[in-house]
Amino acid sequence: MASDQEDNGQRVKRLLGKPGNGNCADCGAADPEWASYTLGVFVCLSCSGLHRNIARISKVKSVLLDPWSASEVELMDSVGNNAAKAKYEKIVPAFYYCPTHKDCMLLKEQWIRAKYERKEFQCVERQEPYSAGYREGFLWKRGRDNGQYLSRKFILSEREGVLKYFKKHDAREPKATMKINTLNATFQPTKMGTAQGLQITYLKDNSTRNIFVYHEDGKEMVDWFNGIRAARFHYLQVAFPGASISDLLPKLTRNYIMEGYMEKTGPKHTEGFKKRWFTMDERRLMYFKDPLDAYARGEVFIGSRENSYSVHPGLPQNTQGYHWQFGITIVTPDRKFLFACETDEDQKDWISAFQTVINRPMQPREYAGKPNTRKVIM
Ligand SMILES: [Zn+2]
Repeated sequence: MASDQEDNGQRVKRLLGKPGNGNCADCGAADPEWASYTLGVFVCLSCSGLHRNIARISKVKSVLLDPWSASEVELMDSVGNNAAKAKYEKIVPAFYYCPTHKDCMLLKEQWIRAKYERKEFQCVERQEPYSAGYREGFLWKRGRDNGQYLSRKFILSEREGVLKYFKKHDAREPKATMKINTLNATFQPTKMGTAQGLQITYLKDNSTRNIFVYHEDGKEMVDWFNGIRAARFHYLQVAFPGASISDLLPKLTRNYIMEGYMEKTGPKHTEGFKKRWFTMDERRLMYFKDPLDAYARGEVFIGSRENSYSVHPGLPQNTQGYHWQFGITIVTPDRKFLFACETDEDQKDWISAFQTVINRPMQPREYAGKPNTRKVIM
């Protein structure tokens, strides 16, 4: 008996070497060591935890540590990640966001529920909430001035090319109208302190405006997110008729390259350094007094090496007024920007983020995104 079990254990381990089984079936993480023995997929530790939330249809165990019966191994052998993908991801819309292991738990959980519990990608009618081109509902929106979350009606209309929200439920005029062409949405569980927290940004008079929303129901929030992606996808398909789908997909929504606190000083370098929240969004380095501010206090455009931008660790000699010890100097054609980080790790991460942007050659459209120099008030 014991030897049978050992034998089963060896067999299930060998299945990890089959094509498709070397990466988590849900988030793509390498070398999964867990498995759903009812669905027949190999998953990573983090996704196995999310499968436990749908225990009615998915039962998980460790490939390496748990005992396996012959019939369970048979099922793992007959299904496996490739066959499961063909079944459960049969018709995933191109715009739909498929999370990676780096994404937040909410996106991963809803992806797993959408695939196995709601079976959204086996039946096109189930994709209505995000593919209909129109969506209406209530979201909790953070007040710009007092930080209180209030219920607001939102409408996403692909035909009008806008996302708008209304202050009063019966109001005719929207409080804000956000054009789909400048819209971005990114989940911010840590910054907002809620798993379902979504940051939506749009350009207003060439300045980035932030709004922060959430819905208690994770499915609703992820449906809004994918609805925004669908609307952007259709907008971009019309705006760039020659572009391929793979060119458009990275432009639907984007996560920030880097966010966090640094200290900064003003253009003369004689003012004391002040702690500010920084967001690196493509080539825009924005800073805020509070991470959840509606508008940035300032924006710095970060160009490329060819345009004489460079980043260096440390601060120029004789710099004064900083409290944090790990300096960064950004050299631009106009001036030097000085920052200080709290830890050497932060310094390393920020330098590598700036380096990534500076090493990337400028795209023609990025010149258009260059903020008005008047607005750079650092
Ligand atoms: Zn995973």
